[in-house]
Amino acid sequence: MPDIDAAARGLYIDGSWRPSQSGRQIDVVDPSTGVVLAAVPDATIDDAQACIDAAAASAPAWRATPPRKRSEVLRRCFELMVERSEMLATLISMENGKALRDARGEVAYAAEFFRWNAEEAVRITGEFGIAPSGTNRIIVDYQPIGICLMITPWNFPAAMATRKIAPALAAGCTVILKPASETPLTAYALAAIYEEAGVPKGVVNVLTTTNPGSMTAHVLADPRVRKLSFTGSTGVGKQLLAEAAKHVISCSMELGGNAPFVVFDDADLDAALNGAMIAKMRNAGEACTAANRFYVQSGIYEAFAEGLTRRMAALNVGPGINAETDCGPMITRKAVEKISRLVDDSKAKGARVLCGGETPSGSGFFYPPTVLADVPVNSEMMSEEIFGPVAPLYRFQDEEEAVARANDTEYGLAAYVYTRDLARGLRVSSAIEAGMIALNRGLVSDPAAPFGGVKQSGLGREGGQHHGIAEFMEAKYIATSF
Ligand code: NAP
Repeated sequence: MPDIDAAARGLYIDGSWRPSQSGRQIDVVDPSTGVVLAAVPDATIDDAQACIDAAAASAPAWRATPPRKRSEVLRRCFELMVERSEMLATLISMENGKALRDARGEVAYAAEFFRWNAEEAVRITGEFGIAPSGTNRIIVDYQPIGICLMITPWNFPAAMATRKIAPALAAGCTVILKPASETPLTAYALAAIYEEAGVPKGVVNVLTTTNPGSMTAHVLADPRVRKLSFTGSTGVGKQLLAEAAKHVISCSMELGGNAPFVVFDDADLDAALNGAMIAKMRNAGEACTAANRFYVQSGIYEAFAEGLTRRMAALNVGPGINAETDCGPMITRKAVEKISRLVDDSKAKGARVLCGGETPSGSGFFYPPTVLADVPVNSEMMSEEIFGPVAPLYRFQDEEEAVARANDTEYGLAAYVYTRDLARGLRVSSAIEAGMIALNRGLVSDPAAPFGGVKQSGLGREGGQHHGIAEFMEAKYIATSF
């Protein structure tokens, strides 16, 4: 079992564990029961200042550390995460509620960012060329961008942090991480692992606060801070972009999604159903890449609806840490209320409930796996992120309609397409406005591939060959002649 007291022992600043200067605490609640698991410090502006000072003091030595040495430290972070994966998965499951199986998957994914970026750290190259005029040479040197503020959400407490921290450290940057208030224990447990792996003091600092707006404004106003990397909702992302604009801070934004899942008549039905279960139910639907709207062609619609309902109704709902659980609780009571509101709105507009659709009584923040058929396009859930285990189905007639419906959203993170016709699959993948397309697959995330969205789903990419690390570097051009 994880050592919760150790994970909650303090803010992690300049390599030491400290109480908040306010003396206040933030309760961490088990979403399976609603009971308080632990409390972590509620940092003040002075604590945030201490993080900036520590990140600034450690920056020169870390950027001067040979890439091979940085790479070895990152590799050690990967190895320790793998060694401690069961402890980390249990901790994630306890504070986030997700099924242990999903939590194990998250730890493996999160650790992989350290392995991948250990390999990237020693492959940062520059450019050298002759100017078209022939008058001079062009040298381009990639340098660490500087101190990075990172803000992460609760739905992937480990992976959203390592997807940022690993490339930043590989590039030679120092970091301040503010994890979500609901799931801080994983972030602190990981900080202890970084320390053990040899990350020098001050290179990574972690603080929790109930006052993220003022804390962010303070940190971004410090001229030594050069990067804001945020994962969370589009609404908060917009506020942060406005704040960062005041100081012309470089921003990477991984924001909300509203993924369409498109199934054509010629799809392999079983493969589409298996993919749908992964795309919808990984993390009980609490994923930015979660399939939010199912568009199914009329010839396969009934069979798909029947198959999906059978699979969804068979899932075990319960506390995430129970081995047999497929679908854990939602993160908060408020999240359940939102899902319930969206389902009620759909029902009132004429959707048919094929399974689920009612909030259960009792303790914990549970919502049952739900399938809704014939969901009208004007239902709120067709334009809002559901972030829960609800699959709304809509029947379409032809390819043109499918693409138009898929693109009828302000978001553009992920999309799923099922068809046996490869030409159509590629044509539709090209036409859908999203940063990532899963073609005949239910899972899109891969540390080796560029993750990110278009439209209001974000700016920039994480992971991938050079994409993720490039977000933490600046190109310096030197003109010279000889
Ligand atoms: P959120 O409410 O936007 O919160 C995300 C983080 O921002 C938390 O750490 C939160 O702190 C902090 N925050 C809130 N208000 C802030 C402010 N005014 N200034 C600075 N920081 C602030 O999002 P969430 O509910 O945690 O996460 C779910 C959302 O994240 C969904 O929209 C999902 O699609 C998106 N997401 C996107 C990706 C992606 O890669 N594109 C991945 C995962 C999740 P507190 O917890 O203390 O409020």
